[in-house]
Amino acid sequence: MTPLRALERIARNPDSVEKEDLVLILRENSKEFNEKLFKTADEIRERYVGNEVHVRALIEFSNYCRKNCLYCGLRRSNRELKRYRMTPQEIIRRAEISAKMGARTIVLQSGEDLYYTKEILSDIIRKIKKFDVAVTLSVGERTYEEYEAWKMAGADRFLMRHETANKELYRKLHPDTPFEERVKCLHWLKKLGYEVGAGNIVGLPGQTVEDLADDLLFVKELDADMVGIGPFIPHPQTPLRNEKGGDFLTSLKMIALARILIPDTNIPATTAMGTIHPNGRQIALKCGANVIMPVMTPSPYRPLYQLYPGKICVSESDTKCIPCVFHMIRALGREVGKSYGSRKKVTISSSTSCS
Ligand code: SAH
Ligand code: SF4
Repeated sequence: MTPLRALERIARNPDSVEKEDLVLILRENSKEFNEKLFKTADEIRERYVGNEVHVRALIEFSNYCRKNCLYCGLRRSNRELKRYRMTPQEIIRRAEISAKMGARTIVLQSGEDLYYTKEILSDIIRKIKKFDVAVTLSVGERTYEEYEAWKMAGADRFLMRHETANKELYRKLHPDTPFEERVKCLHWLKKLGYEVGAGNIVGLPGQTVEDLADDLLFVKELDADMVGIGPFIPHPQTPLRNEKGGDFLTSLKMIALARILIPDTNIPATTAMGTIHPNGRQIALKCGANVIMPVMTPSPYRPLYQLYPGKICVSESDTKCIPCVFHMIRALGREVGKSYGSRKKVTISSSTSCS
């Protein structure tokens, strides 16, 4: 089997994918081959999810976190970080502004902060739903009852990356809870009817190409409705400060492969891609991605949501990112999504797949 053969076969029939195919493709790094991979992903993106790029306004409403993930700047042991919590009114107001500016989805993201109880977050969701938007939560691991209440309050989607499908590596990087716990939450969320997003970090210390192949098989097996993939960026106030970061090309190949394996899923051009490469998000949008998440966190909190250093847009005025991404989308010859941009499942048949 050659990498090219493997690529052609999985583009034709993603369900035929084997780990070996992905390892071969990830290892082959000739310019010609990678260009073929990216072109294939871009064509599949066009065929299955079209020309639209969906804009999801990201409100990072609290940087308190009870967890201690080794790579993350919000980890509880980072005492140098000034912590903040937005009030429900502040969050709702920001969502309203985002909706007025044209965002059709509001993403509420935070560290794992139990201050926002089942009731408090339900109330926020109910109020935001009045602005005719989809609501995505990204607040980490909570109880089934909490997820259920938030779904009933109107939440539509939930983002929770699996981070790495290598259980041993997962254990080393996440001292608080095992991989199985994360997976259990992902299955609960699916069962409750959320659109569910998973995905991994690329270039974690000790991560191998085989691990990355497993990450792709994991999201495929889960049939993730959204797949968020981005490079690891070492944070100076974490134990991984001296490690090497993830590389752009490998991250881009992972995005392209995610598109090929789950043709109708939603894939963001992540902020981390834009952080390690000046045109990282634009390039990702041309290699399989169809979603972008402008930061709508207000000042003065914006620079304090430091998952990793150098994050783009932190010093922009706090309403600039939505018009900026609209401009970016149009400059790429794409259209700004007008609907909520929910996943529309497409049955893959030989007539609609790549030949
Ligand atoms: N607390 C929630 C959501 C916020 S963290 C959760 O953990 O699910 C959002 C994402 O940021 C994480 O899933 C992780 O993949 C990413 N992240 C954190 N630190 C990072 C780093 N140093 N480099 C790249 N991505 C990072
Ligand atoms: Fe907390 Fe999420 Fe960062 Fe882990 S990745 S420390 S859960 S904010």
